[in-house]
Amino acid sequence: FLTDKSAKIFVAGHRGLVGSSIVRKLVSLNFTNLILRSHAELDLTRQSDVDAFFAAEKPDYVILSAAKVGGIHANNTYPADFIAINLQIQTNVIDSSFRHGVKKLLFLGSSCIYPKFAPQPIPESALLTGPLEPTNEWYAVAKIAGIKMCQAYRIQYHFDAISGMPTNLYGPNDNFHPENSHVLPALMRRFHEAKVKGAKEVVVWGSGSPLREFLHVDDLADACVYLMENYGGLEHVNVGSGKEVTIKELAELVKEVVGFQGELVWDTSKPDGTPRKLMDSSKLAEVGWRPKIELRDGLVDTYKWYLENVKQ
Ligand code: GDP
Repeated sequence: FLTDKSAKIFVAGHRGLVGSSIVRKLVSLNFTNLILRSHAELDLTRQSDVDAFFAAEKPDYVILSAAKVGGIHANNTYPADFIAINLQIQTNVIDSSFRHGVKKLLFLGSSCIYPKFAPQPIPESALLTGPLEPTNEWYAVAKIAGIKMCQAYRIQYHFDAISGMPTNLYGPNDNFHPENSHVLPALMRRFHEAKVKGAKEVVVWGSGSPLREFLHVDDLADACVYLMENYGGLEHVNVGSGKEVTIKELAELVKEVVGFQGELVWDTSKPDGTPRKLMDSSKLAEVGWRPKIELRDGLVDTYKWYLENVKQ
């Protein structure tokens, strides 16, 4: 993968948190032939459009980072969208990739594929061993189907499709929507707006006790390139930082990075979600990759991006 800098690479979802980071990474590695389509140019839920695109462009490699994503509230509110759109996008892209001679495809999922009460840290082998966390099972079922589809195409057609399952991601180009985003960008925005307004309090959801692992998206992009070059296995691969914090610790850290001086108020009427979600990323470490960006440094970088882009 790394030796052919003129290979045609389709990064699906290149405007999102993950896709934009992967594009930055590939550009920094001097890849010259990236194929990018905005949502308006190519609707990945439309099978015939996707197939026509692949027939015309014939990409060599595909990184599938297009998905309908959102936090706990969005998943609870739009379950039909989360299951249907994700199943459509991934089925269309994986199948067309195989049919049009793509050499290798990387499918990206999420740590929410694992059972709610999976052993912690969660190994890859925990997949499908128990019931899912109900607040995001729609999204999770779609992503599990994507992993299984990659495996099935590898088994039946010898198609080189691999899957990477990142932990909770953050970074530039994240969704900073006040209700529908994930905890880290939601809090960054809320603390920022409270600081600007001179508010005394910021509301944080839940009890503050759930544990979460966070990975800067640029670390994920680095891992994706590493997997494209070095991994060709049947099983999906966890991509985590290996470090977890409580939501309370996260809130204190975001507060400090943003420079908000007031108090935190906990809204316990909001759901906590799964109590703990730490991935076991030892398999990826065995393949030879390790994360580099510390949470505090990553938060400083993300807040800088937020300030530069807040008006848009
Ligand atoms: P999850 O990791 O799939 O549960 O998704 P989230 O990132 O949405 O939520 C993680 C945790 O952060 C949950 O315990 C939430 O209740 C908590 N949390 C605290 N404040 C917020 C907030 O403003 N937005 C979101 N999305 N979660 C919050």
